[in-house]
Amino acid sequence: MAYEITLLPGDGIGPEVMQAARRVIEATGVKFDWDIQDVGEAALAEHGTPLPDHVLDSIRRTGIGFKGPITTPVGTGFRSVNVAIRKALDLYACVRPCKTYPGVRGRYEDVDIVVVRENTEDLYAGIEFEKDSTEVRELVQFLRDKDSVVRDDVGISIKPISVFGTERIVRYAFDYAREHGRKKVTAVHKANIMKHSDGLFLAVAREVAQEYSGIEFEDRIVDNMFMQLVQRPEEYDVLVLPNLYGDIASDLCSGLVGGLGVAPGANVGADGMAVFEAIHGSAPRYTGQNRVNPIACILSGMLMLEHLGEKEAARQVDEAVAAVIAEGKSVTYDMKPTRDDPTAVGTAQVADAIIEKM
Ligand code: NAD
Repeated sequence: MAYEITLLPGDGIGPEVMQAARRVIEATGVKFDWDIQDVGEAALAEHGTPLPDHVLDSIRRTGIGFKGPITTPVGTGFRSVNVAIRKALDLYACVRPCKTYPGVRGRYEDVDIVVVRENTEDLYAGIEFEKDSTEVRELVQFLRDKDSVVRDDVGISIKPISVFGTERIVRYAFDYAREHGRKKVTAVHKANIMKHSDGLFLAVAREVAQEYSGIEFEDRIVDNMFMQLVQRPEEYDVLVLPNLYGDIASDLCSGLVGGLGVAPGANVGADGMAVFEAIHGSAPRYTGQNRVNPIACILSGMLMLEHLGEKEAARQVDEAVAAVIAEGKSVTYDMKPTRDDPTAVGTAQVADAIIEKM
């Protein structure tokens, strides 16, 4: 049986890194029936929008998207195609495994952290009011009536955190931990200061944790958490965070393990719907040069194989990637000791080397 998957090559470096990733995951022998859909610049030129409805319909139908990076077009009113996809499909969990592969140039050795970020609420919900607008004047008046001290010249962003949103993300983190043999979930918050948003997040997280015996639960205040991640990252396992802290933690943790070139991700919603993508963007200035690192997209494909239940194929990809990184020969410029290292290979050649190890 072939898995039907919506393949979004994206734009900029997207098509070349996704081609490399597709070759590697097909080399596992798992069969795919790709529904290839243009998004980003190509879709904008043809359909007048970077995210046509038929693309979302395709992902709704297949249940899985495998996506390259997409440039956020300037001046079209789109904040981000990536955010629009997550919103339209209610992909509420952003999952970013950050693991050190021996041979990656980084400061740490034994990092193996999974960041589970809530994707739909918090300051990222996009509820914002512009300075001097009627809404801000009304809000300021409302707040002053409640004895809050607010200046006249403010812009306002709202931070909604719900019981529903928290329950489902914390449950997702625990289920993930259970399925992946992980030992501990750490909830990250600033509940001591933001009692009614982060405080609610923590209280709900504590309640959900009681349903999962056998997996340790702890919490950390966000500032302390980030210091500890820099000092002792090996002590952490699965982190679950509201949207904004999750955004920062994802980048921080990818920095701990070697940066954007090796950082995969998944956005997961209800009923197993999911879109797999690297963290990095479309790096437009490298487009078409066969230069950039395809490993983040390849590892996103590995996460997709895991999600499909193809554990053996996923393990095969993971081990082949690890072997190529450890050898340090067939890797792109960003994984060499210096950026102008003449022995760096191209995007397609990294895929060739990984396939050879499988
Ligand atoms: P970027 O990640 O595209 O690139 C930043 C720098 O990181 C690049 O100049 C390059 O030096 C390096 N880099 C990125 N990917 C790499 C790779 N695979 N191999 C080696 N080096 C790599 O970030 P940006 O320049 O801020 O964004 C460019 C465009 O991408 C913007 O339009 C942005 O909105 C979009 N974007 C899309 C996504 C997504 O599709 N998920 C994510 C982030 C940014």
